[in-house]
Amino acid sequence: MIYSMKELLENAYENHYGIPAFNFENFDVLEGIFLGAEKVKAPVILQTTEPAINYLGIDNIVNIVKNNSERYKIPVALHLDHADNMNIIKKCIKHGYSSVMIDASENDIKNNIKETTKVMEYAKEYNVTVESEIGIVDSISNKNENDKEVKKHNNMTNIEDAKYFIDKTNVDVLGISIGNIHGMRVKETEINYKRLIEINNAIKRPLVLHGSSGINDSNLKEIIKYGISKINIETELRIIFRKALEQYLEKNPSVIKPRDIMGYVRELISEAVILKFEALNTINKSNNFLY
Ligand SMILES: [Zn+2]
Repeated sequence: MIYSMKELLENAYENHYGIPAFNFENFDVLEGIFLGAEKVKAPVILQTTEPAINYLGIDNIVNIVKNNSERYKIPVALHLDHADNMNIIKKCIKHGYSSVMIDASENDIKNNIKETTKVMEYAKEYNVTVESEIGIVDSISNKNENDKEVKKHNNMTNIEDAKYFIDKTNVDVLGISIGNIHGMRVKETEINYKRLIEINNAIKRPLVLHGSSGINDSNLKEIIKYGISKINIETELRIIFRKALEQYLEKNPSVIKPRDIMGYVRELISEAVILKFEALNTINKSNNFLY
């Protein structure tokens, strides 16, 4: 069953565990995520960007996610990641996504509030969760390995802004910037715990950490104590996908069966997601839901 993302995250928030939100743009990666989640009985958030939807087809995505959640008995939420326009938001909501992110964080706070409110009003009728973001999460280009291309905004989420934003929008879940960076850096990400704790005390609702691919397990174990309930991971699975393919083809140069090649990719993806479920204390938490 596709669950309301709010319902999954409120359970995680109250019980101090995290739910990883994995991006996928390929159905073998999706299958690998399900295989891992099934093995350890973990609820999971599956998310796509607009380009991934254009690549896979929205009906394919919704039907496969729904069928697999029933087949594997895993509670999932299906989420639209980083949307910047109403067209894709409406399309996803109408097709059965249970959550959407409106990303207007590069706007000033007044416009961010306006855009978020518009989405909240539309989503309310469909019982769809809304994620928004304040503060700007920096990005690193995946091609670059030495952090030189990090766009430095130095724009951590401000506590007064967070409080004001929640007062005005009452958005369900909030993405924040506390040192996290999109992409995956060689250098370890430094989380500003002081800021995280202050934000959590001020707004008391599930928080989202974007750019969590480069965050080590000890930090993952720590952030879930202070309100981070949704942990976004994309780059790490892309790297595993690529490595798995290379490894398999190098060891088996004459194999042509996609089932064998992609079966190996699925297996490595499932192992990687299980490590995240362990770090975030998500193991067996699907028992907190109907299935
Ligand atoms: Zn993000």
